[in-house]
Amino acid sequence: MLKGKTALVTGSTSGIGLGIALALAREGARIMLNGFGDVEGAKAQIRPFDAGVLHHGADMSKPAEIEDMVKTCERELGRCDILVNNAGIQHVANVEDFPVERWDAIIAINLSSAFHTMHHALPGMKQRNWGRVINIASAHGLVASAGKSAYVAAKHGIVGLTKSAALECATTGVTVNAICPGWVLTPLVQKQVDARAARDGVDDAEAKRRLLAEKQPSLQFVTPEQLGALAVFLSGPAADNVRGVAWNVDGGWVAQ
Ligand code: NAD
Repeated sequence: MLKGKTALVTGSTSGIGLGIALALAREGARIMLNGFGDVEGAKAQIRPFDAGVLHHGADMSKPAEIEDMVKTCERELGRCDILVNNAGIQHVANVEDFPVERWDAIIAINLSSAFHTMHHALPGMKQRNWGRVINIASAHGLVASAGKSAYVAAKHGIVGLTKSAALECATTGVTVNAICPGWVLTPLVQKQVDARAARDGVDDAEAKRRLLAEKQPSLQFVTPEQLGALAVFLSGPAADNVRGVAWNVDGGWVAQ
């Protein structure tokens, strides 16, 4: 379905970003990966789909590096058709204890980076009259939890950014939408499972059960594959008129 299209997925060396990159590659899209860690491992997973894969190491807290990443995607892959803003970090502390440097990093990486990528990618999409922007927000883009002020502020912000940009593109072939996952078992969440296991003096399985029981009525983790399938749907013609949504995939989290 996506043969001939290109996709830039930020923060795609692990977790949800890698799951989405794999799903888009399976449909034939050429992929530009981004993120730190095991770059070669991520590339090796995409390569069998044979549509082409590159990696750009831009730090999503650095606007000049983000600009270079989008321009490199347009130069090396021909254009940027699908932009998935996924890179994100977490820090848990009450407002009065929240390190200022962590606040700034979360707002920069989880929110402002999506402005910068869109700022550079939207002109080409509008010119070609086709594009897809998929912003990975969170259930925390719709409701809050204590201890996550920066994350919740950034994720509510990206839902607002999504709606505004969707309206600006409404008469074009460019759609802008957000996906709001509940708990997905990725390195980002495993850190929170580990913290809970240490705090409650329980093993990994019990810490996971407690984490889910608190928020996610399905008592199951959402998977990167499920989010990849939604990204494929949002990239296809059936979603031409899905615009400005914040689509939760959260095992019932925000229905409560
Ligand atoms: P993860 O830690 O597995 O992956 C994060 C990715 O972002 C990695 O590729 C990492 O290298 C990259 N990254 C981190 N800082 C970066 C930076 N400064 N510049 C470039 N890349 C950077 O996390 P994940 O759980 O897959 O999270 C992906 C997105 O999904 C995040 O935006 C997160 O907020 C969101 N999300 C996750 C969950 C969950 O339960 N895991 C739920 C809702 C939303």
